[in-house]
Amino acid sequence: MVTTALVGAGVVALGAGAALDDAKGVDAAALKNSLDNASATAEELAEREASAERSTRDSEREESAEAGLATSLSESPDAWLLPLHGYDFTAPYGVRWGEVHPGIDLAAREGTAYKAVHGGTVKLAGWYGGYGYAVIVDHGDGVETIYGHSSQLMVQVGQQVKAGDTLGLVGDTGHSYGSHLHLEIHVDGAPRDPVPFLRDQGVDIQLEVEQVYGAVTAS
Ligand SMILES: [Zn+2]
Repeated sequence: MVTTALVGAGVVALGAGAALDDAKGVDAAALKNSLDNASATAEELAEREASAERSTRDSEREESAEAGLATSLSESPDAWLLPLHGYDFTAPYGVRWGEVHPGIDLAAREGTAYKAVHGGTVKLAGWYGGYGYAVIVDHGDGVETIYGHSSQLMVQVGQQVKAGDTLGLVGDTGHSYGSHLHLEIHVDGAPRDPVPFLRDQGVDIQLEVEQVYGAVTAS
């Protein structure tokens, strides 16, 4: 049964299963499960714990990310995606407490799977000083992404990854102040603000930092 569903999903993903309308829903779910099996449990737990309002926002993000994933499989190998779901945007790029913060912080529960935002080659997967356990993906054209503070790494140096492939699990290793993903984007060796960079690629990092900073200012 499972094998049949996966074969069907492959056909649908390739766009050759137009007559299989009744089976599409099941096949799409099977396809997602087969792609996401390493992270499904963590994401489901995170969603279950989220508030009703936040769950709504998360599911909206998931739908758009899934649409992006389907697109990347069938049409565009150049897709860009969010690195994870169900996060809180806790720190922006730029000067923070008198120090330059060269990336953005997305807080999520330890063990949450994070994904490659774009296809490329794993350049580093291991301990990386203050970044703790980190992954660097080389996307070509001078663009690299860095994922820091992982609890666990799921890729190896030299591995080819697609957008949406799991790279590791969110953690609190290195110079970290709680479980979160630190995401950096470098262009020709220099860090860029990931928020506008990803927005230019059609990926909207949901900014919740105003609420966080508002609370700090008020206290
Ligand atoms: Zn950070």
